[in-house]
Amino acid sequence: MKLFIVGPVQMYDNVLKIRESDFPYFRTEQFSKIMLDNAKRLSSLLGCKSMQNLLFFTMSGTGAMEATVQNCIFSADKCIVINGGTFGQRFCDLLDWHNKEYTSINLNWNEKLTEEHLKKFEGKNYTTLLVNLHETSTGQLYDIDLLSSFCKKNNLKLIVDAISTFLADDFNMDKYNIDAAIISSQKGLCCSAGMSMIAVSDKLRTELYNNKSKTLYFNFEDYFKNMERGQTPYTPAVGIAYELDEMLKLINTTTIETWLENIKDKASYFRMRAEELGLKIPNSYNLSNMLTPLYFDNEIASDVVKILRDDFDIYINPCGGNLANKLVRVSHIGNTDFKDIDDLLEKLIIVIKKITEEAV
Ligand SMILES: *Cc1c(COP(=O)(O)O)cnc(C)c1O
Repeated sequence: MKLFIVGPVQMYDNVLKIRESDFPYFRTEQFSKIMLDNAKRLSSLLGCKSMQNLLFFTMSGTGAMEATVQNCIFSADKCIVINGGTFGQRFCDLLDWHNKEYTSINLNWNEKLTEEHLKKFEGKNYTTLLVNLHETSTGQLYDIDLLSSFCKKNNLKLIVDAISTFLADDFNMDKYNIDAAIISSQKGLCCSAGMSMIAVSDKLRTELYNNKSKTLYFNFEDYFKNMERGQTPYTPAVGIAYELDEMLKLINTTTIETWLENIKDKASYFRMRAEELGLKIPNSYNLSNMLTPLYFDNEIASDVVKILRDDFDIYINPCGGNLANKLVRVSHIGNTDFKDIDDLLEKLIIVIKKITEEAV
């Protein structure tokens, strides 16, 4: 089996090995130390100034998005959501569920977010901007410089779902004045699914203290308090905490720049070879290094995904909704190398031939 999906990804051997053993009881100093080490290394990778501002939750990324909406959007807030696909829509749905006030900037799947989209929102008393910095459903990586300076100029709180850009593209909370960043274990961190993290700025932390949320499981204050001693209010994803420890050791054997460079090299190599082979990559918007979308005029995308899986045990991501037959997504994170990419491309061409020849 080979995984070229966005997550859970092809895992690294040392991290996979962690799954083979039992884990000791977690209300101990030994486990607290692992959590605090994880917090320290992760907050440094995130550009989060204080490791005390990083929280660990047992849930998938969407849970962390919901927790963020519940804790960090206050009753007086008026939000803007960048909605360029499935994950932007999810923020809209969450804000609807929790009766928060928002307006969304709706983009077509191949429409690039520009300054023009944002301009209309100046001077209208908006307080918060929510964005999935890499909209994983299309591969669009929004311009963080643009978003960050817009928020700074208009004094908006900037909430970033960084789940599919963290550890794939450059990212830094402090540099871009990000008030909350959401990440998840199964994407760039290459661990099992089930743990999500939220980091907040000092400024937002103070605001949280004065705007207590009305939730039990998701209550940030509870998590902040517990994290002071490396614990969580409820049972953490213990196994993933150990996987994370191993993964952060691996990343720290090189530098973050080298780690990102390797993913970028894989993405560039795939894109260059794919185009040589006549495959089509959308070019109307900027792509994250995390994945490459491939576009099929002949509407065979969902068949390509299925046959690649059935005939060769290779997994790439399909798309949903009205893109299901037009677009597939190939991920570049996880334990894959250039040889795996060559193999994927070879099999992709065989699959496409098979489908188009059957059609005549
Ligand atoms: C994967 C992902 C999520 C989380 O999805 P879950 O299935 O809940 O883990 C959220 N936002 C983005 C941008 C993602 O890529």
